[in-house]
Amino acid sequence: MIFSDVELAPADPILGLTDAFKADPRSEKINLGVGIFKDEAGDTPVLASVKQAEAILLAEESSKNYLGIDGVQLYNKVVQELLFGNEHQVLKDKRAVTAQAPGGTGALRIAAEFVVRNTPSRVVWISNPTWANHRSVFETAGLEVKEYAYYDAQTQDLDFAGMLASLADAQCGDLVLLHGCCHNPTGIDLNLSQWQTIAELCLEKGLVPLFDFAYQGFGTGLNEDAAGLRLLAAKVPELLVANSFSKNFGLYNERIGAVTLIADSAETAAVAFSQVKRTIRANYSNPPAHGALIVSTILSRPELRALWEQELTTMRNRIAEMRTLFVASLKAQGVKQDFSFIERQAGMFSFSGLNKQQVQRLRDEFAVYIVGSGRISVAGMTKANMDAICKAIAAVL
Ligand code: PMP
Repeated sequence: MIFSDVELAPADPILGLTDAFKADPRSEKINLGVGIFKDEAGDTPVLASVKQAEAILLAEESSKNYLGIDGVQLYNKVVQELLFGNEHQVLKDKRAVTAQAPGGTGALRIAAEFVVRNTPSRVVWISNPTWANHRSVFETAGLEVKEYAYYDAQTQDLDFAGMLASLADAQCGDLVLLHGCCHNPTGIDLNLSQWQTIAELCLEKGLVPLFDFAYQGFGTGLNEDAAGLRLLAAKVPELLVANSFSKNFGLYNERIGAVTLIADSAETAAVAFSQVKRTIRANYSNPPAHGALIVSTILSRPELRALWEQELTTMRNRIAEMRTLFVASLKAQGVKQDFSFIERQAGMFSFSGLNKQQVQRLRDEFAVYIVGSGRISVAGMTKANMDAICKAIAAVL
C-alpha cells in the first residue's frame, strides 16, 4: 500500500476560500477573494469579442488535429506584438521566441523548468508579498525561492529602497520575478524611473528578469502597462515573460497564456526555444487550441480587436470607479482611517491593510470573504454590494 500515509494538503489560500464561500449557506454573502472580474450585475460574462471570434471559429475550423508543441503560430506572433509593440528592436532582431502555454501559471512553470534543466541558474527572487502560487510553482520546478522587500506597511506604498537592498544580495544568473503591472496583491507598480533603475541593476549584476504579466490593460492601458517590460527588454540581453489572457480576455477556464524568451542573439534564442519545446513535450505534449484561436482571431482582425479594446477599457474603468466609490463609502460609514491609497493602486486588487483577525471577522460575522493577507478583489465590488462591504469593514476596524 502506498497511498494510506499520504498527508492531507492544506487548502489553497485563494481557491480554498472559494470552496468555503460556496459552502456558506448565508444568502447575503460576498466573495472578494479570487481575482475574477465581475460586471455591475456581479456576473463574469463571456466578452462579445470572444463570442464573435467563437462564431467565426465554429464556421471556419476544419480540423481538431494536434497543434505543434509550441501551439498556434499566429497566436505566438500576435502575443509578441501585444507584449512589445510592433516596432520593438527585440522583435526586429528576432531575439524573442514565444510558445503558447496553459495560462499564466503554465507559462511560469515552463519557464522555471526550462531554466532548471538547461541553465546554471537555481534561484528566483520574488516580491514580499506576491501572488500566493509563485513560491509553489517555482519550488515544484526545482528553483530555490528568495524574497525581496516590496511593500511598506507604514506608508502603504512601495518600499523601493528595501527592494534594492534585498536585490543587492542576488547573484549573477539569478532570476528576478517582476509583475509587469497591477502587482498582485498590493496594486502598487514601479514607475518608469524605478524600472530604469531595475534595468541597470539587472545589467550590472547579470540578473535575469522574469516578467509575470497577467493584467495587461487592467492598469492604465495596453501600451502603458507594458512600459516596464519594454524598457527592460531594450536594456538587458536575456529576459523571460509569462503572460496570461485569463483576465484581459476573460478566458479564465480556457487556460491560455504564453511563455516568451529573449536571448542575446537570434541564434541563441532558436536553440533555447528547442529546449522550451522539449520541456512542453515532456509535460503535456502540446497545448489545447481553443483559447489561442480565440485570441489570435481577435487580435488579427481590426474590427474584433477594436471591440475587445473597448471591452477591456470598460472593465478597467469599472474597477477604477469601484476604487473611488469604495474610498468614499468607507468615509460615509464613518471610517476615520485614511484609505485614499486604494485609489492610487492599480488593477483588480487592493491591499487593504486589514489584519488576519479582521479578515476572519469579516467572514464569520458578515459573510464577506477576502484573502487572509488583507487583499480585496475590487473587481468583485458592485454599487449594489458596496454598502454592505463598507459597513462590515467599518465594524471590524
Ligand atoms: N500571475 C499572477 C500575478 C496572477 O494574479 C495570476 C492569476 N491570478 C496568474 C499569474 C495565473 O494566471 P492564470 O490563471 O492564467 O494561470
